Amino acid sequence: MSRALRDGDLRAGDLVDSAEAALSLVEGGADGINAFLSTDFERARQRASEMDDELRDDAEVSRPLAGIPVALKDNIVTTDHFTTCGSRILEGYRSPFDATAVRRLRDAGAVIIGKTNMDEFAMGSSTESSAYGPTRNPLDRQRVPGGSSGGSAAAVAAGIVPAALGSETGGSVRQPAAFCGVVGIKPTYGRVSRYGLVAFASSLDQIGTLGRTVDDAALLLETIAGADPYDATCAHRPVPPLAHPTEQGLEGVTVGVPEEYFPDSLDAGVRARCDEARRVMEALGATVREVSLPHTRFAIPAYYVIAPAEASSNLARFDGVRYGVRARGVVTVDDLYERSRALFGPEVKRRIMLGTFTLSAGHHDAYYGRARQARSRIAADFEKVFAGGVDLLLTPTAPTTPFRLGERTADPYEMYLADVFTVAASLSGLPALSLPVGAVEGLPVGGQLIGPRWSEATLVRAAREVESALALVPLTVA
Ligand code: GLN
Repeated sequence: MSRALRDGDLRAGDLVDSAEAALSLVEGGADGINAFLSTDFERARQRASEMDDELRDDAEVSRPLAGIPVALKDNIVTTDHFTTCGSRILEGYRSPFDATAVRRLRDAGAVIIGKTNMDEFAMGSSTESSAYGPTRNPLDRQRVPGGSSGGSAAAVAAGIVPAALGSETGGSVRQPAAFCGVVGIKPTYGRVSRYGLVAFASSLDQIGTLGRTVDDAALLLETIAGADPYDATCAHRPVPPLAHPTEQGLEGVTVGVPEEYFPDSLDAGVRARCDEARRVMEALGATVREVSLPHTRFAIPAYYVIAPAEASSNLARFDGVRYGVRARGVVTVDDLYERSRALFGPEVKRRIMLGTFTLSAGHHDAYYGRARQARSRIAADFEKVFAGGVDLLLTPTAPTTPFRLGERTADPYEMYLADVFTVAASLSGLPALSLPVGAVEGLPVGGQLIGPRWSEATLVRAAREVESALALVPLTVA
């Protein structure tokens, strides 16, 4: 797209028109994919025409993403769109400022099309906990797109935008990327500013990127990454060029395959596709060896203590006073809090109660304290493997292909297991990437690469080699 814009073969306005046309093909009617919570094509066209003027004046020196349409998950704030976090409690909320990632996208010339659907406050793995109805997987509308960034993944998979921002706390970019057959990158904790990302669990949250190709997701990440005075947890570290790596092959790269990520219960098709990716990496010159991350089985329990604990504290700010919707006709202050907070959906309430319980005076050590110990062990497993000469790990992104709508909503624990392969990297602050590695019965399978802190450039390079060696034909939008 960028090349066509620079060569004058396309106008940015045309790209907005085709995004709108692509959207109309998959939206509307009872089985519309419901990828967006809001769009603003008028504003997008206005911005596109500014970018067209700039490109006309000097295409060579123009901004890196000039005229490229993008979408944003609805927990990333912007001044000119609503930010609902998929929740009734923020219905109609508009931020007085732009998130740092959004400001950087705007400065780079990107054209924002709209805000995408998500599990309420990013709590979920299927986008079914959105207060505004689930998103459907554009490759099979009876199935979920994954979550919580399901709207962003679906928007990219349906060809509405080439790339989008999502957010990650425990897998919410990688898992929907895998389910929708696109690429998703979760950066190292501290690589991207969290300023303007509505907080879920602050020690885990990161903005991540989704794209149709490794380079597209990498280009977006390169644009939004880097130190930010508004976020003290954002590292002062130069951001290496990520998109379009020039090195060829995987000579000299050691890939670890952790046995804990290939349990007997793993879907046979998922296993087969990951084994193929492994052989492809070997053929590209990588040395592949089996490794062990013995504390992996504690990742889900530790995550589902730590994330709700932090969430219960972060979500205390939604009290009907400062943000979003305030209950009407209340008499007392308690009434105001209770009736406003009653707007939270069941999964959010469950997490607030869980978190409040595990942080309470009598239970703090038994739950939160233990979970933190487990988190340290999990991170130490990774450190040991990387210190032993492994450059990156190859695993499945999710244990299954996309499941059917409604299949897991009755049992929250079943839903939590969709993250079994993604949460350990999150708990350890490591960068990880999901890329398509094939399909089983027409449904996409994602392969995950996990690297040491700040190794995004290696991950992108390896993913790009695998992507081009596999040369997969894109799956058709239903
Ligand atoms: N599915 C996980 C959860 O429900 C992860 C969510 C996320 O990464 N935001 O917490």
